[in-house]
Amino acid sequence: MIKENFLHFIWKLQYFNKENLQTTQGEKIHIFFPGTLNKDAGPDFSNARVKIGDVEWAGNIEVHINSSEWHLHNHHHDGAYNNVILHVTWKDDDPVRRDDDSLIPTLELHSRVSESLILKYSSIVNASEEIPCSAHLEKISSIHKISMMEKVLVERLHSRSHFILDLYRKTNNDWQETAYQLLAKNFGFKLNADPFLRLAQNVPLKILLKHRQNPSQLEAILFGQAGLLEENSKEQYVKNLYREYSFLAQKFSLSQNQLSKSEWKFLRIRPANFPTIRIAEFVCLISLHSNFFTSILEFSSVKQVKECLSEIEVSSYWKEHYTFGNKSTLIKNKGLGEDSIENIIINSIAPFLFVYGKERKENEYVFRAMHLLENISPEKNKIISLWKKSGMDIDNALQSQGAIELYNSYCLKKNCLSCEIGASILKERKESVV
Ligand code: SF4
Repeated sequence: MIKENFLHFIWKLQYFNKENLQTTQGEKIHIFFPGTLNKDAGPDFSNARVKIGDVEWAGNIEVHINSSEWHLHNHHHDGAYNNVILHVTWKDDDPVRRDDDSLIPTLELHSRVSESLILKYSSIVNASEEIPCSAHLEKISSIHKISMMEKVLVERLHSRSHFILDLYRKTNNDWQETAYQLLAKNFGFKLNADPFLRLAQNVPLKILLKHRQNPSQLEAILFGQAGLLEENSKEQYVKNLYREYSFLAQKFSLSQNQLSKSEWKFLRIRPANFPTIRIAEFVCLISLHSNFFTSILEFSSVKQVKECLSEIEVSSYWKEHYTFGNKSTLIKNKGLGEDSIENIIINSIAPFLFVYGKERKENEYVFRAMHLLENISPEKNKIISLWKKSGMDIDNALQSQGAIELYNSYCLKKNCLSCEIGASILKERKESVV
């Protein structure tokens, strides 16, 4: 069953036999330019140039599987379609007329597209494999694969830009505060990203920086505001934090936005990733590197980031606890591990540099973002394993980020006709065009 987007693809790339091309009314057609695919309302292709009979036309082209869809879609009541110069169809089952009763020239393609192209297309869109084109990937040149990966990587960074720019606007265009909130969200990793972000949004960085010399006060503010401090704890450490938080919360009018303990997730998380441990690490980051949020702009190598973040070490209480009140002898809390640091580069530092560079039109930061990603290992997850099994080379995070985006935004939606790899599979052999 042919779908309209396949017909768009065939028309756009002119993958059909053009010998003795003529309208269903018998007039000769010559195509100079098929037009530009229009993703908004109105006819499917604009700015096309064709010669029909002896007359050259420039204008819009509408594409349908059956010409009768013209009426089904109510185009006869829409003035935007009255100046369509050519109706491209799979089958002309109902000739269409303009308001002045003139016939719209119609081209039928069903006998002009090769069976092998249709079969190849069906084999991809009907494939049950998680990566539908995996059977063809090996034959595709690395140029097409790299080019598509680069395209989707930029799309991924752009889609993340919206989130970062939204933070930037909400912080009254403050890059430092934006970086702080973004990084806080990252410290929550997958399951606690949202409460961690809200925690940072409720405690402006400038309040924390006032207390950076005193890590206990930083812990009091963040654990208290996170709603994790028990008022009736028997431990002196917790009692002290609670007292300190009560005083500071009043001083900075914090308590009205306090989170509740139930907003934090502890289940199905390794203890080293508990939000209590991540908050303790975040405290250490602020007290050790108060200018970290501005130094992000200066990072030019992965080594620099790792040297900076590997200094993070939790306070003595958290070397013996994963949660408040539960002492454990098995703890190996040394701070952020290699994987966590790379995760922060991938999800916070590189996207931040990319957005900062784009927004300020300073490409140096964009290149730095790419350079950082290029120099760390690819993520290890199900999507990357699928690509590797399909024979795709993924050697660094630049490629793995592209591979994740390609899978989520194209492969899962079977968006193969908009994918350069898909176009290359269908274009591969000249005999696809009969
Ligand atoms: S979207 Fe592209 S990479 Fe994904 S399955 Fe289709 S052709 Fe392959």
